[in-house]
Amino acid sequence: MKNPLSFNVTNDSGSLLCPVCGFPDFASSPAYSKNGGEIGVTICPCCLWEPGFDDCPAASARAKETIIASVKAYRRSWAVTKQWGGKRDRMPENFDSADQLAKLLEIAPNLK
Ligand SMILES: [Zn+2]
Repeated sequence: MKNPLSFNVTNDSGSLLCPVCGFPDFASSPAYSKNGGEIGVTICPCCLWEPGFDDCPAASARAKETIIASVKAYRRSWAVTKQWGGKRDRMPENFDSADQLAKLLEIAPNLK
């Protein structure tokens, strides 16, 4: 998966899904351009993934060589607890992290 634009995943409702945890509406505009993650667009309110930072080795020491490797590594550490990491008032009442991640990987199996 070489094209950063493939990290702009949308569901049937047109909501942008976080490429790490699948949270819908994680960004109000696409967080990836052909150059990679766009810094300053969003921080996922669920897993706190920040495109352009967490997937950029020049910015974060925890980022990997590629966006997909960074996504997978970040997801592995989030998946230990699958907890809501952001502000509680943004957490949906029906929050189900396992279901949300399963939906992401169904729509975008290339992010597995
Ligand atoms: Zn997320």
